[in-house]
Amino acid sequence: KFVDDLMYCIKCGNLTNKEVPEGDNRNREVCIKCGYIHYENPKIVVGVLPILNDNILLCKRDINPGLGKWTVPSGFMELNESLEEGALRESKEEANLDIKILKLYCTYSLPRVGQVYFLYLGKILNDDYAAMDETSEVKLFKYDKIPKDLIAFSSVSFFLERYAEDYNNDKSFLFHSNFE
Ligand code: ZN
Repeated sequence: KFVDDLMYCIKCGNLTNKEVPEGDNRNREVCIKCGYIHYENPKIVVGVLPILNDNILLCKRDINPGLGKWTVPSGFMELNESLEEGALRESKEEANLDIKILKLYCTYSLPRVGQVYFLYLGKILNDDYAAMDETSEVKLFKYDKIPKDLIAFSSVSFFLERYAEDYNNDKSFLFHSNFE
């Protein structure tokens, strides 16, 4: 093993070893001293598609990845919050948005990077939204006038495409997932 490959137990600081724990079926980092098993599971990303009449609010990213491209308010869920609380918190932090959550609209699984995205449809309640953390600009776009080539992530492109389709299909905002 190279030094960079070594992992240390978060409980006692001793080295871990990759092994299949008893009763398990895949490799985990297990502490050689105290036996603590370091489970790794996907992270949850939560966000809002903020809508106002036939407009969608997008945030221009002020950080990488996707610097200068458009996205929706979103980020990693924190401990001790619900999905809905996380979605509202990210909307406030990134765009000073007050949102009324309408429904859970899409999930988007990213198995290769170990992330699952939960996107809510949310109605914009305030008019003093503004570029905040990680955002250089916020702007309302008509749902069919989205800058398609300047969207930061394939997940967000997926959400915006589904929204435009649903809007044109009697505004039937059914639930979507990228593995449907
Ligand atoms: Zn340990």
